[in-house]
Amino acid sequence: MSLIREVKERANIVKVAELYGLKLNRAYKCVCPFHKEKTASLSISPQKQIWKCFGCGKGGDSISLVSELLNINALEAAKSINYTLGLGLDPNQKSNYFEINKYKNKQKTEEIFKKWENKTFQLLCDYLHLLWKWEEEYAPKNMEEDPNDLFVEAMHNKDYIDYLIESIFINGTNEDKIWFWKHEKKVVRRIEARVRTFRAIN
Ligand SMILES: [Zn+2]
Repeated sequence: MSLIREVKERANIVKVAELYGLKLNRAYKCVCPFHKEKTASLSISPQKQIWKCFGCGKGGDSISLVSELLNINALEAAKSINYTLGLGLDPNQKSNYFEINKYKNKQKTEEIFKKWENKTFQLLCDYLHLLWKWEEEYAPKNMEEDPNDLFVEAMHNKDYIDYLIESIFINGTNEDKIWFWKHEKKVVRRIEARVRTFRAIN
């Protein structure tokens, strides 16, 4: 990102206007320095970070405001704002703002992923323990007895859950986990519902 864009994104236009001598009223309006007038027709929008004069029609962003006020080009205006507002950007370095943002986003994603990983791992372990319990407690006593539903569920799922825990959460790479995260949401939701139901019962 260029210095101009960095400054534009970081500098609050209200602060810029005030530091460069515009006397804003409570409605963020002031007498326009670019044409002769007595009433305030220059208006600043803090929401949109732009300025507009309804008398002479001039307007733009914080960069153009300073560039108009000091009669300098956009890059010089960006450097001036950087200095005046103490933004601390290095005018010779291309993209510190972008890098910082990228780093923050990466950290956030990693945090969310780590949380998901811990939660899902715990969930699968809880479910596996339930399945082991059911396998033992509801095993048919003899050949004639109809198998209990929970016993059947245990038989169907225990190896698969065991495999998921082992191959993805214990021995898997981050790619395996991300794959699981993206593609097995339904499975996780189903297991979550099962665990929740039986936690409530017990
Ligand atoms: Zn004007």
